Amino acid sequence: IAPPAPGTVGDDLGVPLVTGGSIGYANLDHAASAPCLTAVRRAVDEFLPWYASVHRGAGFASQVSTRIYERARQAVAEFTGARTGDTVVFTRNTTDSLNLLARAVPRDTSVVLFDTEHHAALLPWRGRHVRRIPTPRHRAEAVAALTRALAECPEGPRLVVVTGASNVTGELLPVAELARVAHAEGARIAVDAAQLAPHRAVSLRDLDADYVAISGHKLYAPFGAGALVGRADWLRAAEPYLAGGGASKLVSEREDGIGVVWNSGAERHEAGSPNTLGVYALGVACSELSAHRDRVEAHEAELLERLDTGLACVPGLRCLRLFDDADTERVGTVSFIVDGIEPGLLAAALSAEYGIGVRDGAFCAHIATRRLVDAASGEGQQAVRVSLGLGTTREHVDRLVTALHELTGRGPRWTYGQRDGRWVP
Ligand code: PMP
Repeated sequence: IAPPAPGTVGDDLGVPLVTGGSIGYANLDHAASAPCLTAVRRAVDEFLPWYASVHRGAGFASQVSTRIYERARQAVAEFTGARTGDTVVFTRNTTDSLNLLARAVPRDTSVVLFDTEHHAALLPWRGRHVRRIPTPRHRAEAVAALTRALAECPEGPRLVVVTGASNVTGELLPVAELARVAHAEGARIAVDAAQLAPHRAVSLRDLDADYVAISGHKLYAPFGAGALVGRADWLRAAEPYLAGGGASKLVSEREDGIGVVWNSGAERHEAGSPNTLGVYALGVACSELSAHRDRVEAHEAELLERLDTGLACVPGLRCLRLFDDADTERVGTVSFIVDGIEPGLLAAALSAEYGIGVRDGAFCAHIATRRLVDAASGEGQQAVRVSLGLGTTREHVDRLVTALHELTGRGPRWTYGQRDGRWVP
């Protein structure tokens, strides 16, 4: 297996954005972490000799770093459609963002969510009143179920938490409708956009959502930086997420100990020396994705169609779906089970014999995966997940489909007919 070579892929599709080889290793695991955009790598390389402490140093490098850090905040605000008055807090990733939000919500907040959420959205709310809604098989029922659940919550603030796109099935949740229902009931809504933002524009303004959480490493930047963006009031009133320098405005000695006046903006929750390089990378990735959104979507739509039609030809392969609605919009993530082949074995064979990287397991969404495998009449609680992105080529998709035919050993070997644009035996 050849390692990804620096360069660009997808030139023929007009998406010359990504570091990564088009030959050799086929990374079909973008939903876990996406490869670094060439533009991001170049920007980080350029900044690398200059990074220094932000906000506090008087030197030139510190001034450059502070400028770059705050410009990244602006880029993330634009990327997420932040409104005047919204705060952008830099975090480590989506998990960190949602844990920060969980600390910031008022004590008596009721949290309402669907039980098929990723663990990052499902688990941080311990100690709050949590109402888990069994995810219905139709999107309209999900909206109705949310209305009922909100009406049944005890008095006090209420927060709906929902993923923009499922990390298991790639299906989009009806976020705008859920936001409308939440607001009609006087609740707030937070969107886990870890999986949606790499594939679709996510705008707080357009969705009329209150908070959004993103991860840089899913947005074609390296690891270590993410953001929570949204309404400032709860964040301003909450205890700092971490206590330390940067979060504190004034510290003084008092007879009974130490007196602290905390900052009230984003710095309140960004104590310690920040990940300036990571934040810069995140900001550049956000700007690049926004600038190329149409091409990103077109590239993925073509490959997803090719993948869908290819998988449909593999005997004994069943895709997992949250919703039965035929018109459910999806990003390029597909999970499936294959009769008689254990997902771990299938994923290992795809890697060892074909150089294809997929993921198997329950994808940090145990309840969702168990439920969906069961609904697909499968055994066990795990599946194989294939996820597409800018590092994916047609050859990767074709290699996967061919490999699945060979590994299942059933039926003829299929190839993609370039002339008529469909799979033929
Ligand atoms: N939410 C969803 C829907 C995800 O897919 C993931 C990552 N698998 C997360 C949250 C957590 O993201 P991170 O690991 O970057 O914190």
